Amino acid sequence: MDLQLRGKVALVTAASKGLGKATAWQFAHEGAKVVISARSELVEKAAAEIASETGAEVLAVRADVTQPSDIERVINTTVERFGGLDILVTNAGGPPSGTFDETDLATWETAINLNLLSAVSLVKYALPHLRQSTAPAILTITSTSTKQPVKNLVLSNSIRLGVIGLTKTLSQELGKDQIRVNSTLPGWTYTGRVEELINARMAKTGQTKDAEVANINAAVPLGRMGRPEEFANVAVFLCSPAASFVNGVMLQVDGGLNAGTF
Ligand code: NAP
Repeated sequence: MDLQLRGKVALVTAASKGLGKATAWQFAHEGAKVVISARSELVEKAAAEIASETGAEVLAVRADVTQPSDIERVINTTVERFGGLDILVTNAGGPPSGTFDETDLATWETAINLNLLSAVSLVKYALPHLRQSTAPAILTITSTSTKQPVKNLVLSNSIRLGVIGLTKTLSQELGKDQIRVNSTLPGWTYTGRVEELINARMAKTGQTKDAEVANINAAVPLGRMGRPEEFANVAVFLCSPAASFVNGVMLQVDGGLNAGTF
């Protein structure tokens, strides 16, 4: 199948590693021009790596998604360098783990900025350019925690539902502009974020890393965690013209973890 991404311009935020980087790599592999952003110098390293492995044009921009001025700069830089924007993938780092009792109000506010308002700002600044595209798409990266709460992750379980509401609303409102808006809901996928969550679990339970990994694997019908590229394949397909009639979908990529019927 031809995903018809050759020459398209895709922006993936929070993409110096993990799911964002894997998604950017797959866009590049499919012939898109790619912009990746993150806060640290790892983002330039990631861009160089993706460009050398795929032969694509990849631009790195250092930016913090909690800062609207940074977001505006990322979008403007993208358009200046590549002449437009076709695909926006909104991603950010995960919020801290913890129960409701352990989480203070300031931490809630920080997480709302990181995981909800970042997506709102990205869409705000990207929309005028997406409206000029012939194959525009927005993808939000959320979590299976929006379908089934994950223990010890009250912030993710709560705040990401706002992104789901935003995604679904935009899919209704932007259809008239032919802009498709979908979300991918990753389950356990082995990245730095999962390392952090496993460490947090070990600190609480006193179990070994192997035991915590085994617990997670046992909860997944496929018996294992996902690989970032397995997530990226789905994300890139949803953003591609090959998925031209898919709009307003919240797609789990979780090995069957969420056992709900819908
Ligand atoms: P990861 O490996 O920890 O990567 C996080 C990325 O986000 C890095 O590139 C990091 O770069 C960037 N980042 C963090 N804070 C940022 C900020 N304020 N502004 C800009 N970039 C920022 O995480 P991941 O596993 O790829 O997860 C990506 C998202 O999916 C997270 O929200 C995570 O909670 C969610 N998720 C992941 C899983 C999973 O199993 N992996 C499952 C469900 C949901 P810098 O630090 O350099 O900025």
